[in-house]
Amino acid sequence: MKTYKIGLLKGDGIGPEIVESAVRVLEAVGKKHGVSFVFTPYLIGGAAIDACGQPLPQETVEGCLASDSVLLGAVGGPKWDGLPGNIRPEKALLGIRAAMGLFTNLRPAKLYPALKNACPLREDIAAKGFDIMIVRELTGGIYFGDRGYRDGEYGEEAYDTERYSRMEIERIVRVAFETARKRRKKVTSIDKANVLETSRLWRKIFHEIAEQYPDVEIADMLVDNAAMQLVRDPSQFDVIVTSNMFGDILSDEASQITGSIGMLPSASLNDGKRGLYEPIHGSAPDIAGQNKANPIATVLSAAMMLLYAFDERAASDDIVTAVDKVLQAGYRTADIANGATMYLSTSEMTDKIIQSLSGEKV
Ligand code: NAD
Repeated sequence: MKTYKIGLLKGDGIGPEIVESAVRVLEAVGKKHGVSFVFTPYLIGGAAIDACGQPLPQETVEGCLASDSVLLGAVGGPKWDGLPGNIRPEKALLGIRAAMGLFTNLRPAKLYPALKNACPLREDIAAKGFDIMIVRELTGGIYFGDRGYRDGEYGEEAYDTERYSRMEIERIVRVAFETARKRRKKVTSIDKANVLETSRLWRKIFHEIAEQYPDVEIADMLVDNAAMQLVRDPSQFDVIVTSNMFGDILSDEASQITGSIGMLPSASLNDGKRGLYEPIHGSAPDIAGQNKANPIATVLSAAMMLLYAFDERAASDDIVTAVDKVLQAGYRTADIANGATMYLSTSEMTDKIIQSLSGEKV
């Protein structure tokens, strides 16, 4: 039996509750598909600050590097908001991404047919549905370029610099093409090539690499147009590949049109695709400890881990189908209940997903 070592970063707020749900689902799907997992928890965020005075202890970094893959809940909360920037819980996220060399961020944005009424788009647009994978470059571009303050001609000024190397663009574009091959075989590259030099280099390299993937359809789109197209006709996209800052903004826009922050998983990958898997939402301090959180984003993050880190496609698909069935049967947590007063708790939703996995009717 194959055994995978998974580092668990439960973090703060609802983190421990939703990670617990994903662990239960992984154990159930593992039993069914003949794989097993060894889970090792490590401290991160506010919980780590409380225990040892820093948000990302060295032991956590070493533990994650020694794991086959890492599952993260969320970090942060009002208790630690007053701390200086370098020891705030959120600092641990940048630290662990850097330590693990995670240059790719994969963020699916899918509209579940059963949740169409939560979609804020016009009914005829939502009716077409959408299933987009945003591939965002995570360790380069303007967020990491030269920056500073200086005295300018008109007094105080600040600047940030966008910089991308061929190597950084090539490797993220390749991830996008490989991802598209596992999906509907279309990649849209989003840039601002009518203005930015970095975008012109990006576009040139995108087309060069595309020649190696003749089975994948390609398109270029300017970022301002992409922001419009995402709300006008999101069904036109399969895989989107873009730079760090454009990806940051567009992936938030894409998450909002699905209507439910508690549903969306993500993966951050390095060359080895070992990666860090986490829901896109935060630690939701307002509902922490109340068994109210929607565990689906974290459960689907675990499904992404099975696919991308371990190549266990059947087990991964099984989780996605189980979640679909539970939603189609009408079960909801509070955040997706659309005002209804009857909804499931975190643990009840987890039970339903496991029941669905076992083949029982839900
Ligand atoms: P948030 O995502 O935690 O919460 C926003 C709203 O969505 C809240 O009303 C919350 O209850 C709800 N929500 C979020 N996840 C949910 C779920 N699974 N089920 C049901 N409802 C859910 O964002 P925020 O309130 O801006 O931030 C709270 C804390 O989380 C802050 O300290 C912030 O820095 C941190 N944060 C962490 C991460 C991360 O760890 N990756 C990401 C974003 C924010």
